[in-house]
Amino acid sequence: MQYLYKQFLLIIPMTEKVWKCFRCNLTFKSQELADMHKEISHHSITRVKAIVA
Ligand SMILES: [Zn+2]
Repeated sequence: MQYLYKQFLLIIPMTEKVWKCFRCNLTFKSQELADMHKEISHHSITRVKAIVA
């Protein structure tokens, strides 16, 4: 039973972290872009999890 449980964990879809600006409703795939936007607009960026299909 324990073995089957471990197998199940491996097939859970990978999640990717993205950065989001809720003010502009923009999503950034890299931290560099998010930081750039943060510097230019002084908006706060939130790190969120996005499920990759
Ligand atoms: Zn923004």
